Amino acid sequence: MTARLIDGAAVAARLRKEIAEQVAQMEAAYGIHPGLATVLVGENPASQTYVRMKHKACQEVGIESFAHNLPTDASQAEVEGLVHELNADPHVHGILVQLPLPKHLDEEAVLSAISLHKDVDGFHPLNMGRLAMRGRDPLFVPCTPYGVMVLLEEAGATFEGANAVVLGRSNIVGKPAALLLMKRDATVTLCHSRTRDLPAICRQADILVAAVGRAQMVKADWVKPGAIVIDVGTNQIDDPTAKRGYRLVGDVDFDEVKEVAGAITPVPGGVGPMTIAMLLKNTLRGAEMTIAEHA
Ligand code: NDP
Repeated sequence: MTARLIDGAAVAARLRKEIAEQVAQMEAAYGIHPGLATVLVGENPASQTYVRMKHKACQEVGIESFAHNLPTDASQAEVEGLVHELNADPHVHGILVQLPLPKHLDEEAVLSAISLHKDVDGFHPLNMGRLAMRGRDPLFVPCTPYGVMVLLEEAGATFEGANAVVLGRSNIVGKPAALLLMKRDATVTLCHSRTRDLPAICRQADILVAAVGRAQMVKADWVKPGAIVIDVGTNQIDDPTAKRGYRLVGDVDFDEVKEVAGAITPVPGGVGPMTIAMLLKNTLRGAEMTIAEHA
């Protein structure tokens, strides 16, 4: 059996096109231009690359973006002060504080300072809390798990009553992905580094989401025939034949698992492109909420 490929790059491109159209309509109807502000503290090269990619993506769909870079030794008061300024700025509809922050900063306090209505990463403790509560919805859903859910929809997943297994319990991917699946009435098992007999648990899954950061950990005999497999992992492995000397692989052994699964995301080209597309969608939503507030 060869699994159907869930083409995240194509889905993300379609979403970006729709967002660009909605941005243009918003400008024409209300004269409002959605705006995203990024806050980058320090000079972590990976964070700098992610922030650059986010600005480029904004530019491509007509979302205005404002880059704020603070030095590595910025104080808690400086970072929170900047967040408060951005909360008050009418041109800014979304605020993204690039994580991780330098160790001396209190991440929770910074995330809590972001206005709930501009929390486009969905990491404000109140938005996360609402995600965890029955009958409540967050104003924004964290971008990567949001993208995971869109890809599952694309793959035609039936959520209600399905066995969903999520590998990884981080605040930014695994835990919110599990909560979103639970909201859709799946029966969810959340696994982590202390879980016993992962292969046996994974074999029960109709929906398997891997977000552990362990290259090609999920093997064919971990997967139930026909399952939908979403691979969030992004890992570098040595590859002397590649120009850069390495290549990117997921947490799933793609070549093996595609012979068993019903549908599967590739790495790269699966969840990765969705994360930025969902950030753009959340920023547009931030601008829509501003318009609704003033209507
Ligand atoms: P974290 O390192 O924060 O969390 C990893 C999780 O996996 C933890 O819960 C950890 O368990 C669990 N884990 C680690 N090793 C094992 C193991 N051997 N068996 C079972 N569970 C294990 O990672 P993130 O959630 O931030 O990221 C996960 C992956 O997703 C990474 O490869 C990252 O690069 C990628 N990623 C991709 C994004 C995209 O846009 N495509 C966005 C964000 C992340 P414990 O809690 O017990 O430590």
